[in-house]
Amino acid sequence: MDRLAARHEVTRAELFRHLDCEPWLASRDLARGWPGVAAADYAAFHQLIETLAWAVQAPTRAIAATFIPAPESALLPPALRVFGCALCWRDAVIAGEPMVLERDWILRASWRCQRHNLPLAPVRRLIGDRAPRSAVRILEAQVVALDRLRRRLPPTAAMAAFNHNVLGQLMGQQNRGMRRGETAYRTRFVANRFHLAPTRIALLAAAHSARPQAPDRFERLVALSAPALLRSSANLLDPKGRRPDAPAPWSVPEGLITRRVVRWEAGLADLIGAYALVLRARMPTAPGMGRPREPQRAISPDFALRIA
Ligand SMILES: [Zn+2]
Repeated sequence: MDRLAARHEVTRAELFRHLDCEPWLASRDLARGWPGVAAADYAAFHQLIETLAWAVQAPTRAIAATFIPAPESALLPPALRVFGCALCWRDAVIAGEPMVLERDWILRASWRCQRHNLPLAPVRRLIGDRAPRSAVRILEAQVVALDRLRRRLPPTAAMAAFNHNVLGQLMGQQNRGMRRGETAYRTRFVANRFHLAPTRIALLAAAHSARPQAPDRFERLVALSAPALLRSSANLLDPKGRRPDAPAPWSVPEGLITRRVVRWEAGLADLIGAYALVLRARMPTAPGMGRPREPQRAISPDFALRIA
């Protein structure tokens, strides 16, 4: 659908209107196909599929095959479906082709390009409406930064294999039993909440590498209930006023090391920032009041250093 819209340089809504279909379908999340469409929208959606199949001269089942047969919780929220491979897109721009998001890139468990093994970047946000020359420059800088991240946090062979298999299953490409260890991987990564952090890709890269401390901390943080978080931040604000049930902070003789290690190794600013993100994600949004999340920070060359 996006390929078609990009080729004609129109938005999805304009494309639907042009095809004589309901333009409001463009605001719906159609990535999952029928399972993701409300019963009231079935007729309009059916007409859209038929018309699209006619427009691209393909059988209806070929259109249906482009949907992702995964549960909604496995997909990134629509506003965050901006991650892609800087290398794939650089080649596309140079060849004068549209920059299309591959289907698996919108999965929450997806964090690197299966073709180039390069971590994904929020390329759609970075490029916007820029001219090709400027787009290529940005994409090349991203390739360098992400290659550095890849070398700093290479995935272990076992985690890379789990990721590959589970993504295949979510896309409906592999239908076989689970291998040893895959159940635990699925439970942890299919509906993960790393997208709540601006450093989603780096956290996932670290979680798949031999240095998983930062993502482990983040997972513990987002798994906490609000009172538990408040208790933890109170500890940080006033280490002396700790509750008796909290473990004592570990400290070393004065003058040796100035940094005190407390229960939460994340800085207070990180903690409050993550808490605000979690709260915002939990807040129900009224229909029509949905507002895109703050832009993800672009990946800078010191990106990997910040999270490690
Ligand atoms: Zn790629």
